[in-house]
Amino acid sequence: MAGIRIENVRKSFGVLEVLKGFSLDVADGEFVVLVGPSGCGKSTMLKILAGLDDATSGQILIGDREVTDVAPGDRDVAMVFQNYALYPHLTVARNMGFGLKMRGMGRAEIDRRVREAARILDVEHLLDRRPKQLSGGQRQRVALGRAIVREPQAFLMDEPLSNLDAKLRVHMRAEIGALHKRLGVTTIYVTHDQIEAMTMADRIVIMRDGAIQQIADPDTMFQHPANLFVAGFIGSPG
Ligand code: ADP
Ligand code: MG
Repeated sequence: MAGIRIENVRKSFGVLEVLKGFSLDVADGEFVVLVGPSGCGKSTMLKILAGLDDATSGQILIGDREVTDVAPGDRDVAMVFQNYALYPHLTVARNMGFGLKMRGMGRAEIDRRVREAARILDVEHLLDRRPKQLSGGQRQRVALGRAIVREPQAFLMDEPLSNLDAKLRVHMRAEIGALHKRLGVTTIYVTHDQIEAMTMADRIVIMRDGAIQQIADPDTMFQHPANLFVAGFIGSPG
C-alpha cells in the first residue's frame, strides 16, 4: 500500500481546460471520494492517475515513486469501472484471474489469489459461472475481485455503482466500505452522488469545472461548506 500525491495537474483537450491545477495528498490507507457534477473532470483525473491518459502538466507520485511517465501496467494501481467489462465467454474465476495470467503469473498463485478474493467477496459459489448468469451486484463483486487479485497499492474506482438499482447501490456501498476496512488499501472513489460521498469517505474532494472547491471530512464539509456551491451540492444548511 501507499499514499498518492497529485501535484498541480492540468489537462486540456484542445482549447478546453478540463483540469485547472488539481493537487491532492491521499494518505496511505485513506478512502477519498472525489465528487462533483457530470463533466467536471473526475474521470479525466482518475484516468491520468491510472496512466490511461496524460496530464498536460503536473506530477503524480504513488508512494515515493514518481509515476507521471510510467505506463499503466507498471503503476500498481487497479481501476474499477462503471461498466464492469467482464469477458462474456470466460468463467468468473477466469475473469478474475485474466489480468494476472496476462502478466505471466503462475497458475497456482493465480488460483490462490482468485480463491481468496472470491471468499472475501462471497462469490466462491459462482466461480464456474459466466457473467450472463450473474445478477448486477454479483457482476460488480466480480469486477471488484478482478481488482483485488492484483493486490495493488491503490484502488481507483470510477462510479462503480451507478449501473445498479437504488437498493443494491445502498447495499454495495456498505460492502465496499467493509472491504476497505478489511484490506485497508488506499482508494480514490469517484461519484456524482453526494450521498455516496457523505457515507463512504474519510475525506471528500468536491470539484466544479476542473477545480477543487473544498477538501474536508464529511462532517466538516456539511457543517462548514467553503462556498454556496459546496453547500448546495452537499445539501447542508449553511
Ligand atoms: P466527469 O467524469 O466528471 O463527468 P470527465 O472527466 O469525463 O467528467 O470530462 C470532463 C470534461 O472533459 C467534459 O467536458 C468532457 O466532455 C471532456 N472530455 C473528456 N474526455 C475528453 C476527450 N477525450 N476529448 C475531449 N474532451 C474530453
Ligand atoms: Mg465520469
